[in-house]
Amino acid sequence: MSEMREHTGIATGRLLDGAASFHGHLGPYLVLGLRSGLIAVEVLGRDSGMSAIVETDRSPPRLCFIDGVQFATGCTMGKGNIKMRAGKAISATYVKGKKALRVSVRSSVLEELNGRLLGGQIEKLALDLADRSSDELFEVDYGEPSKFQMHTQPKTLTRLVGSCFF
Ligand SMILES: [Zn+2]
Repeated sequence: MSEMREHTGIATGRLLDGAASFHGHLGPYLVLGLRSGLIAVEVLGRDSGMSAIVETDRSPPRLCFIDGVQFATGCTMGKGNIKMRAGKAISATYVKGKKALRVSVRSSVLEELNGRLLGGQIEKLALDLADRSSDELFEVDYGEPSKFQMHTQPKTLTRLVGSCFF
């Protein structure tokens, strides 16, 4: 297993510090959002044109995920290129032109967090997640934007990404 680890380096990097100061504290869901967004940036590039739809609970700590996504991708509420949908899963669908991907936090990770958040040591857990491989944390599904329409509400999508989808 050890050769599978990616050593992203974000645990000690500026990106993590920046995200924590943007969000106000360092937490596991923030890190998951950040890592999810970094996958999108790797696949789609960081220049403009990316949109995101985040599915998560509407309350912290899971809501913290969306700040990680915003910080990593540059998709922000203020620019209107990120949208939130309430849901039990935590996932983000990223779209740019004809490319799209859906990054979902593995249910095993969510279960692990549910069991551990009450015990404190939030920052330590966040750093631990920051150092894990993407494959340990996420399921990633790639395709054209139309592939992911099933998971979203058409009206919301039209407002969000306009001609990307239709
Ligand atoms: Zn938070």
